[in-house]
Amino acid sequence: MVAGFIEWDWERIEQVSLLAEGVRTEIDSPTVVVRLAAGQGRTWQKTRDRGWPVFLRTFLLRRTLRAGIPVVPVETSALVIESIVGDQITLRFVEDAEDFEFPLQSFLYRPKRDSSGAPRRLVHPRVADWLEANGPFGAGDCDQPHGLESPPDIGGFDEPRNSYRVIGVYDGGGGWNCGVFRPAGACRMRQVPDTKAFGKGAVIYPFCHVCRYILVNRIDPRQHPRLEKDYPEDCHENTVCEQVRPLRA
Ligand SMILES: [Zn+2]
Repeated sequence: MVAGFIEWDWERIEQVSLLAEGVRTEIDSPTVVVRLAAGQGRTWQKTRDRGWPVFLRTFLLRRTLRAGIPVVPVETSALVIESIVGDQITLRFVEDAEDFEFPLQSFLYRPKRDSSGAPRRLVHPRVADWLEANGPFGAGDCDQPHGLESPPDIGGFDEPRNSYRVIGVYDGGGGWNCGVFRPAGACRMRQVPDTKAFGKGAVIYPFCHVCRYILVNRIDPRQHPRLEKDYPEDCHENTVCEQVRPLRA
């Protein structure tokens, strides 16, 4: 299993501004001028000064039909900010320019980066290494549905509070015991086989981080930085995170 092919391994997002109008990028033009929502231009000054990479993204996720190509958000490759005039920003493609259409509700974002400057992704690097070496969590047991699951011990990985929230690849999903995969050990989107949906004592799990990420991306991308503060792998015993807890009926 190769981490780059996990469908939900999107960038962690630290800064977002909505576009004030739609824009097209074109293969023949290495630069593109975008107009941000009122008052947002100045918030990108530091990103420009440091030369940090940024991206344009739509609110949609795209499923390509070519085998082996993951579901990716419709977004550009890396851009850098060339200049800022009021809320108008000139962006330059780091590599080749691409043809893309960014309608209203598209946004400019800056990913969280690791020490080498590469974007951090939703699957933690230690978890990605483990998955690449060992395959999906919980794989192999196809006789019965998987219940609440947590990842196994992963070397060099400081397991967070509520370890079932760790983003990875878990075996079992969509009514299948194995061979269909899901991103978290529990989620509101999953019927946990050993609890009755709304019976007394039932446990209702919150949306997993990947579901929340998709919802935020679609409904209000400006909330991405807030969601990032609740990245499960950073939520340890003594850190301040928004606390996501299961509900008991
Ligand atoms: Zn989910």
